[in-house]
Amino acid sequence: MGALLESLRALQEVELQIVDIRRQLAAKQRSVQRQVEKVRAAEAAFASQREELRRTQMQMDELDVELKARSARVASLRDNLNQVKTNKEYAAVLSQLNNEKADVSRLESRAFELMSAVEAKKKALAEQEQVVQQETQRLTNLENQHAQAQNSFAERLNTLLRQREEASAKLDAKTLELFNRVSERYEGEVMARVLRVHPRRQEFLCEGCNMSLAAERANVLMTRDDLVTCDNCGRILYISNES
Ligand SMILES: [Zn+2]
Repeated sequence: MGALLESLRALQEVELQIVDIRRQLAAKQRSVQRQVEKVRAAEAAFASQREELRRTQMQMDELDVELKARSARVASLRDNLNQVKTNKEYAAVLSQLNNEKADVSRLESRAFELMSAVEAKKKALAEQEQVVQQETQRLTNLENQHAQAQNSFAERLNTLLRQREEASAKLDAKTLELFNRVSERYEGEVMARVLRVHPRRQEFLCEGCNMSLAAERANVLMTRDDLVTCDNCGRILYISNES
């Protein structure tokens, strides 16, 4: 392998390490983002449960007011019952009283239902509050892990970036541009080895994409220190001395 391809391989070695670190950091960043969404969902569920509880409590309060009014009427009808003069009046007041009492008992059982509902909703709300706390705690942990990873990688990353600059300096602008373009496409896997498929026949493969390679392309690489890219995947080809 000539000097040009050696320089490119040296640059790729640094590039792959940079890509790997960035990939790990990005994965942690994504975990944080997913957890942010979980916290938001838990908070939204909490808010809607709280609103539902508030509405049920309001219904209960309204019912309570009505119950008090009805109970007062029952009491006043009982008083009337003692003051009526005729049997006819008595029967009329009694019937009214019975109707009111029936209403009161219907409202009381409704109040009991609402009270049970409020209790159940309070319990569910308290549980949801716990969920929010747990998810928030998980988010804090993931954020810490992300920050720790950033810190622990920072020095290594700086060193690598410096090394990349040094390695890039050995290449001309056009070559470097090609390198960066392929690197972006294949996450740092810029170089691909040319494999000889058959020991006697002139058959070659690009190891990057496993597609066959025209023999003249391989021959150029065997004779010159030149930039040859794979027609199929676009990676920069090299022939390893070991193969
Ligand atoms: Zn290829």
